[in-house]
Amino acid sequence: EPLLSGLNLRKAYERTAALDAASLRLAAGEIVAVTGRSGSGKSTLMLCLSGVLRPDSGEVVFDGVRVDRLSEAERSRLRRQEFGLVLQFGQLLPELSVGDNVALPLLLDARPRRDARAAARTWIERFGVDHLEGARPGELSGGEAQRVALARALVSGPRVVFADEPTGALDTVGAQQVLELVVDTVRREGTSVVLVTHDNTVAAFADREVVLADGRTQADDAGPGAR
Ligand code: ADP
Ligand code: ADP
Repeated sequence: EPLLSGLNLRKAYERTAALDAASLRLAAGEIVAVTGRSGSGKSTLMLCLSGVLRPDSGEVVFDGVRVDRLSEAERSRLRRQEFGLVLQFGQLLPELSVGDNVALPLLLDARPRRDARAAARTWIERFGVDHLEGARPGELSGGEAQRVALARALVSGPRVVFADEPTGALDTVGAQQVLELVVDTVRREGTSVVLVTHDNTVAAFADREVVLADGRTQADDAGPGAR
């Protein structure tokens, strides 16, 4: 029984069919890399699985719940309570300090401000950006912003982390460090991860790789539950 599954997902933007029969099953505690060329549908698959986008057809099931049938507000609550997201751009709020950006998932979950800030500080330190706690996102380099985004994705102890090219702005050593930290954390906590990347050295951190081509996953990735 997978924790999360997307079955036969289709999604078109105005002109482009981005997903065409894509399926992915994710077990609890499993790290799956989604790879494929630019434009193959990786980001769209991640956005459908995490409930940011609604697929045109197919189903997304998380822990027994049909995510694709939830309202916008319900999907937003699901993301807040169960998921950690690292998107490619713009996920940090420019008006808030780094510390408040990382604390935000906890504050939105009505956690006391002191606890939220303390937890945020722990994660900021782990990712080596504690000197930036008071900085605004606009002052950060791309790699620093990715470290902050990962800290924010992990701070609330999510059950699934979705990360879209989370180390693309880091150098090889930095990317390696950050991925080791993420993998250590999710192994300890039993968190599942969907890791979108076009980089083989990043995909090597995953338990399994699902390859997308023209919006389709390889036939065997659908698993026994696919129709
Ligand atoms: P990737 O590195 O995954 O290929 P892209 O550069 O294709 O990422 O996409 C980055 C962002 O731009 C995403 O949020 C995506 O949804 C959006 N995007 C990609 N292609 C288009 C497009 N043709 N029109 C509008 N937005 C797009
Ligand atoms: P990948 O992450 O593998 O680069 P994407 O899911 O970003 O793939 O994109 C799949 C296809 O959908 C591409 O042709 C891209 O240009 C298109 N696309 C992605 N996002 C948008 C968008 N917001 N509006 C229009 N087209 C988009």
